Amino acid sequence: MSATPRVVVIGAGIVGANLADELTARGWDRVTVLDQGPLPLTGGSTSHAPGLVFQTNASRTMTAFAGYTVEKFTGIDVDGAWCFNQVGGLEVATTPERLADLHRKQGWATSWGVESQVVDADECVRLHPLVDRDRILGGLHIPSDGLAKASRAVVALARRAEARGARFQGSTRVTGIEQAGGRVTGVRTPDGVVPADVVVSCAGFWGQELGAMVGMDVPLLPLAHQFAWTGQVPDLVGRNDELGEASLPILRHQDQDLYFRERVDRLGIGSYAHRPMPVDLRELPQGEDVRESSMPSMLPFTEEDFAPVWEQSRLLLPSLRSSKIDTGFNGVFSFTPDGGPLIGESPDVAGFWIAEAVWVTHSAGVARAVAQLLVDGRSEIDLHGCDVHRFEDVQLSPEYVSETSQQNFVEVYDVVHPLQPRMSPRDLRVSPFHARQQELGAVFLEAGGWERPHWYEANAPLVDELPAEWVPPERDAWAARFWSPIAAAEAWRTRTAVAMYDMTPLTRLEVSGPGALALLQRLTTGEMDKSVGAVTYTLALDEAGGIRSDLTVARLGEQLFQVGANGPLDLDHLRRQAPDDGSVQIRDTTGGTCCIGLWGPRARDVVRGLTADDFSDDGLKYFRAKRARIGGVPVTAMRLSYVGELGWEIYAGADNGRRLWDVLWAAGQEHGIVAAGRAAFNSLRLEKGYRAWGHDMTTEHDPYEAGLGFAVRRQKTADFVGRQAVAGRSADTVGRRLSCLTIDDGRSVVLGHEPVFVDGRPAGYVTSAAFGHTVGRPIAYAWLPASAAVGTSVEIGYFGTRIAATVTAEPLVDPGMTRLRG
Ligand SMILES: Cc1cc2nc3c(=O)[nH]c(=O)nc-3n(C[C@H](O)[C@H](O)[C@H](O)COP(=O)(O)OP(=O)(O)OC[C@H]3O[C@@H](n4cnc5c(N)ncnc54)[C@H](O)[C@@H]3O)c2cc1C
Repeated sequence: MSATPRVVVIGAGIVGANLADELTARGWDRVTVLDQGPLPLTGGSTSHAPGLVFQTNASRTMTAFAGYTVEKFTGIDVDGAWCFNQVGGLEVATTPERLADLHRKQGWATSWGVESQVVDADECVRLHPLVDRDRILGGLHIPSDGLAKASRAVVALARRAEARGARFQGSTRVTGIEQAGGRVTGVRTPDGVVPADVVVSCAGFWGQELGAMVGMDVPLLPLAHQFAWTGQVPDLVGRNDELGEASLPILRHQDQDLYFRERVDRLGIGSYAHRPMPVDLRELPQGEDVRESSMPSMLPFTEEDFAPVWEQSRLLLPSLRSSKIDTGFNGVFSFTPDGGPLIGESPDVAGFWIAEAVWVTHSAGVARAVAQLLVDGRSEIDLHGCDVHRFEDVQLSPEYVSETSQQNFVEVYDVVHPLQPRMSPRDLRVSPFHARQQELGAVFLEAGGWERPHWYEANAPLVDELPAEWVPPERDAWAARFWSPIAAAEAWRTRTAVAMYDMTPLTRLEVSGPGALALLQRLTTGEMDKSVGAVTYTLALDEAGGIRSDLTVARLGEQLFQVGANGPLDLDHLRRQAPDDGSVQIRDTTGGTCCIGLWGPRARDVVRGLTADDFSDDGLKYFRAKRARIGGVPVTAMRLSYVGELGWEIYAGADNGRRLWDVLWAAGQEHGIVAAGRAAFNSLRLEKGYRAWGHDMTTEHDPYEAGLGFAVRRQKTADFVGRQAVAGRSADTVGRRLSCLTIDDGRSVVLGHEPVFVDGRPAGYVTSAAFGHTVGRPIAYAWLPASAAVGTSVEIGYFGTRIAATVTAEPLVDPGMTRLRG
């Protein structure tokens, strides 16, 4: 057997130790773990982590990571002493809003397969007798949550990894990364170079320092977070022995940004209620000092910040009134712009990876995913929300990282609506149509730094003109947030007249050069070797047949392609896969260009007077592109539509964008044109069954499961990634399916991530949902067992209630495609 790669892991915290364990378990035995601090308590965040593991999260991936941490830590010990104490988790509500949110969270738990119950106040007190019955309305109980003893788990994992050949070395600071020919070759330390084929930085909140050594942006912010231990709590005396430590569930009081854990006869209290306290690494012990300083990640306790939460703690847990704070510290750990961890390889230095901004809770899951990436080339769990390359350039600036990470600290326990935009920073990226959109009263939400109109207040009068069958039903207060009935009017006009959609924020990549065709042939499931002007909807698969992305590829020249992509991950993927002989150039052209989706039965009437080019059915066929001029503006028009109506995506240079908008707008007036936003768009796309990657499908799904088998061209002569994996599969072989549901009562709108029950049992979860204005019913797409055929009655869990729905044949609108091809 050939030798496995030499791996250096930087950091012997819970992530580094887990990674050494996962790699050696896969036979990669040449693993060296280096830490600047002494072993095993290195002084990083892990050394003093109180280790509460609340598994459930809006993200399926993060919940799966946590579930694996629970499973793994339950199975390890140090000389018989536990690494995971499954005391359960209890989150209490003191407001009706929180109680409702706990019901929503219980829905996520059910969707992701975690057993849980919302319980009443009496049951909360039975589970945690210290809680004041009169202060709470109820709680969410998750019996499999508990306490991870992170510092002990590090010892257990290190021992296991060492037994398989790994080496752990403390008091060794990495001061540089050695590289040659664009690859890592080792790490520099004061004692010399340690050679390596792969380096993984698990340096926690020091991550930016390590990234800087290879010029890599690591968008995290070290923040201090207060944690205190009480003195003896009389009501806890005699409950636990030193070994067991705790028997009460871990407790969250999110309405006051607090959490609690037991330790023998004391309580630990963590608080997010204080001001964000960013930490400048330069002020922490460095180099030699780390060896002497026991805990660089423990900053002095600022009592004044803790005083109000101590009061709140004593209100929730009256037993604390006869206790006092014994010790406390301001502990440092990482926050990121979106709260997710950071996993991935440097774009410039092959073999340099990071796994940072990871909680103890997710540590084993993240480490397993990284080990799978290194050893197998892919993770079994979808990583798109964790990939360090998920951020747009503008989101990597220190100002953005600092502001948004601090905001995440403040909001960590807030009830956050899925559409809720951040208030600041805003206006980072605006399309050339922005001023016009403002004039029309656009209500903007933000994504990827872009301002995106969701609807236009200028269309409000149209709501009164809606035909009865288009009038949307009232929504409940939650579903009505960040929504307006104006969306119904915009959808109506799109289906009956014509609308302009700002498609500028959708990522556009230009792939060109003599090797462009071959690259796209290899990376996608469709036939790319078509005539100039062809547009192809296609999939990028991974080796196992999982969907990495869906792409719309337009061949604009023999060696020139425009790729409509899902975001920065596609750019990163294409760049990594491109040959390094200069035969392919890949550029993100999104910022310098713009796009209007002009769609509706009267779209052709709008352009007719504006162009000498042929926009007839023959002149520009469905899924064809051509260069043209509209109102004097040079454009590339593509005959396709996410909303399922006749029309084009019209691309222009950003400098011409405003004029393009104005000429279309003016010409459209006599045809009833409206500007329409994302709310209408999302409804119309779901009516047509168009999938959104990242929501509806990910690398965890194959094309046939996702209902996208048509995009895999079996007769394609060129080989492509994933071909072998999907060769034997078809829509008939799948065990699960992305299914279209319509809601039986015609009015109850769900928002996504809700559990779906078949025969009363959890069977899947909602991916995307909207009210279908054309069909007059709410729609939800959901992953369900393939046995749930069309006509099957199901129920969707929504804030603790069940909504009846039916699996329905898709698409709901225009299955014959007559509107698009007209
Ligand atoms: C007060 C507090 C409470 C918390 N509570 C919880 C909780 O209840 N549940 C939970 O899940 N998480 C909790 N966390 C978060 C959790 O502790 C961290 O996210 C986690 O421990 C990070 O693990 P890590 O291995 O990535 O980082 P660390 O443990 O910080 O390890 C990184 C290591 O890298 C080493 N290193 C850095 N630079 C270099 C270099 N140049 N050369 C060599 N070595 C280097 C450091 O010495 C360090 O040992 C808490 C954090 C704090 C501060």
